[in-house]
Amino acid sequence: MKINVRDVYQGITSLVFPEICLICNQVFEKVCRSCEYRWLQNARSFRIDDLTISAVVTYDSESSGVVLKAKEDRNKVARLLMANALANSIMSWKVKTDYANLLLVPIPSSKMAIRRRGESFLQPILKSALQICSSHGMKDLAWRSVLLHQKRVKDQSELSFNERRKNLENAFKINENSGLENSLATAKIILIDDVVTTGATLLSAARALRERKMTVLGAATVCASAHRLLIR
Ligand SMILES: [Zn+2]
Repeated sequence: MKINVRDVYQGITSLVFPEICLICNQVFEKVCRSCEYRWLQNARSFRIDDLTISAVVTYDSESSGVVLKAKEDRNKVARLLMANALANSIMSWKVKTDYANLLLVPIPSSKMAIRRRGESFLQPILKSALQICSSHGMKDLAWRSVLLHQKRVKDQSELSFNERRKNLENAFKINENSGLENSLATAKIILIDDVVTTGATLLSAARALRERKMTVLGAATVCASAHRLLIR
């Protein structure tokens, strides 16, 4: 009997890299390379109104499952995938602007969500992303929780585009204790969020900051709707 060398090799590699994948096999421990690849791609940019927004992953059933795992289960692998994608999204701004005065401002979780989960969802992912940026030479990026929720925002998922806009029109106010009063005037702000679909949240956040004469360049996000990420 002839032994097929390739079969032996594949047998060995599947022992070394057990093919248990968070995304395609739903065993939430590891991710296979083909699924991981989507979260390691370079960011693409698009515009909504006057905001330039970067994102890495198309928001679909697969990626929304990863976001949900990161959010609801605090799944470490899912959070790391998001941190990698967010880092690429942030780093794409390096070529667009002098990043010395950049200030990253995360969209805050609603009070209700913080009460339910006990912490901000985005902040630990942003902190991991900044470590990745730093290891790629984009060191000392500053971030601040400048924004707070103004009023209770209704659950967005059931609302139409116009209803969402209305719901979010005055969603944010400035955190007067963010301790950056002087440097905020000169900072070039990039908003940070996990998912962008209509853009209503980001536009509302930009409006709140600009009303206070702050400069908002755009946003760095993880996932965006497919039609936003079309190459044009
Ligand atoms: Zn997979």
